[in-house]
Amino acid sequence: MLIDLRSDTVTRPTPAMLDAMAAAQVGDDVFGEDPSINALEELATQMFGMEKALFCPSGTMTNQIAIKCHTQPGDEVICDELSHVYQYEGGGIASNAGASVRLLQGNRGQLNAELVSSGINNPDDVHKAVSRLVVVENTANRGGGSYYQWEDLVRIGEVARKNNLSYHIDGARLFNALVATNQTAQQYGHLFDSISICLSKGLGAPVGSLLLGKADFIKKARRVRKVFGGGMRQAGMLAAAGTYALQHHVDRLQIDHNHAKAIAEVLSGKSFIKSILPVETNILIAECNADFDLPGFINQMREKGILFFSLSPNRFRMVTHLDITSDMIHTLTETIKSFN
Ligand SMILES: *Cc1c(COP(=O)(O)O)cnc(C)c1O
Repeated sequence: MLIDLRSDTVTRPTPAMLDAMAAAQVGDDVFGEDPSINALEELATQMFGMEKALFCPSGTMTNQIAIKCHTQPGDEVICDELSHVYQYEGGGIASNAGASVRLLQGNRGQLNAELVSSGINNPDDVHKAVSRLVVVENTANRGGGSYYQWEDLVRIGEVARKNNLSYHIDGARLFNALVATNQTAQQYGHLFDSISICLSKGLGAPVGSLLLGKADFIKKARRVRKVFGGGMRQAGMLAAAGTYALQHHVDRLQIDHNHAKAIAEVLSGKSFIKSILPVETNILIAECNADFDLPGFINQMREKGILFFSLSPNRFRMVTHLDITSDMIHTLTETIKSFN
């Protein structure tokens, strides 16, 4: 039994999801003729109360399409220094959109209105790039799965609007935030110009992300998706998995959050742990004492079938998800307890 806590992307489709995939009606989506993709896009549109949605192969693509559609070459994108769009999308902001980036030092991957305000260039100063877009991430991956308070997102939105900036959210794990708070998808649909959600993380679909926005924005995004090579044909099987995930795997994210908290509780009693970022959703980031042999710990755990990554010489990350059962959490916590 492998206990794979490296990422919530390692989930496999469940038997029921595979049934839904096998039963999917398909067509050519570049022609807009795949009924399963159209149904998924419609479902997401309804959930968020937005005009249109676009099914894409990955969350990187939905983010990159959004950035490209919101900016012109030379414009500046404002985001947290830890954000996925900057750290983990291969420099795509520069190479796909030709935009530059203003990195802000937020709190656990989260920006606030004052910080965003301080990062906006004077539009009348010809020396400066034109600030065009604010990107926030919720939950924040490198922030340890931290979620935003709703009021903070609203205030950032006010600053963006006042300064004519677009407002995009990288919601790869937005459903984790929704489940952990009393925020709703509709609120997000109302606040943001564009939203990216991943179906292939804790929701358990094998592939796929959605970009949501206004009709004219998604029309533009559909063209950019084609340019990026992301126009898919009979991909309705994948969309059926996504629809199944949205219908059946959202509420259960609470289980993943409980599992992550259970791991944190046991780890916090270990002498080699220096600190753990507050566990708000399904990601746990812990820092070990400087003299602790973290690679040795990771290797010993791997020999017992428990997989996770280090983020730096003395920090590691564990991510809970659909394929992590309560039995596995029991095995894991007992293994940690016995480690010294
Ligand atoms: C995983 C992730 C993405 C998208 O990743 P893909 O692997 O391209 O689907 C985007 N943003 C965040 C915060 C993520 O964690």
